[in-house]
Amino acid sequence: MAVKNEILQVAQECRLNAYAPYSEFKVGAAVLTVNNKVFVGCNVENASYPCGTCAEAGAISAMIAAGEHCIAEILIIADTKCILPCGNCLQKIAEFGNAETLIHSADLHGNIKTFTLQQLLPHNFDAGDMKC
Ligand SMILES: [Zn+2]
Repeated sequence: MAVKNEILQVAQECRLNAYAPYSEFKVGAAVLTVNNKVFVGCNVENASYPCGTCAEAGAISAMIAAGEHCIAEILIIADTKCILPCGNCLQKIAEFGNAETLIHSADLHGNIKTFTLQQLLPHNFDAGDMKC
């Protein structure tokens, strides 16, 4: 539980830096790696909407940039209710996690829901799918 509180706090702080002038929907994320390193990200919108990036993607990019590659847990916190990662981000989490990787979704009222990656993306695409 202590680890979850740590990543909750840093994700919440990072959420405040989100660049969301169009939706005004700020999201923060924090990744905890299997080596107990923490990386954060926030959503970054763009006037050309498809160019925007999700908070989870930012946190995962920071993790990779630091040389870490294995997600143990990820927490997402948004302005409103507990939200879940989009399909694109679930696939990104699958690339660096496993079926038991924990995905926490928090809101600003202290609610947290926890799922495994298996629950949210039971049939992800992976490198094995490219082989005959
Ligand atoms: Zn996403």
